[in-house]
Amino acid sequence: MIGVRKIGRPMDLKERSYLVEVARGLAISMAHFARNVVKQDEMPTIQYPEEKRVLPERFRGRHRLTQREDGTPRCVACFCCQTACPADCISIEATEREDGYEKVPARFDLNILRCVFCGLCVEACPCDAIRMDTGKYELSGDDRGSLIYDLNTLLKD
Ligand code: SF4
Ligand code: SF4
Repeated sequence: MIGVRKIGRPMDLKERSYLVEVARGLAISMAHFARNVVKQDEMPTIQYPEEKRVLPERFRGRHRLTQREDGTPRCVACFCCQTACPADCISIEATEREDGYEKVPARFDLNILRCVFCGLCVEACPCDAIRMDTGKYELSGDDRGSLIYDLNTLLKD
C-alpha cells in the first residue's frame, strides 16, 4: 500500500526525499480545490455568519427560564438543577413568594462559560422551569461578567 511502511524497515531513498508524498498531497489539495470551484453548491461549508445552519429540533441551545401565565417564573427555587449540574454553573438564591406557599428565585445565575450543555439541569427540573430550546448558540461577550446570565436575561426568551 502506498504511504505505509513496515515498522523497523529503514526508509528507502524515495521515502526519505518525501517528493512522492508531497506531490500526492498537492494533487489531493488541487483536486479538492477544483471540485469546490466547479461545484460550489455542494461544498460542505457555509458563509457564516451571513448564512446560518439549520439546527436539528432537539439542539440544546442557550437556557431559558419559563414563566407562568401571570408572568412570574415557573421556578420554585428547589435547587434540583443546581445540584444536578456537573459543572457547577448554576447559583440560586431562594426567597418566598408573596402567597407564602412556594419559593421563587431571588437570584438565578447561570455561568455559561462553565456549561458543558449536558442538559442535566433540564432533566432534573420538576417544574419544566428551565429549558434549552432557545436555539441560541452564538454565546459571546465582551467580558466574563456578561456571560453569567441572570434571572431577567434567562426569563427574557
Ligand atoms: S447544561 Fe449541564 S453543565 Fe450546563 S447548566 Fe445545565 S447541568 Fe450545568
Ligand atoms: S429551574 Fe427547576 S430545578 Fe432549577 S431551581 Fe427552578 S424549579 Fe428547581
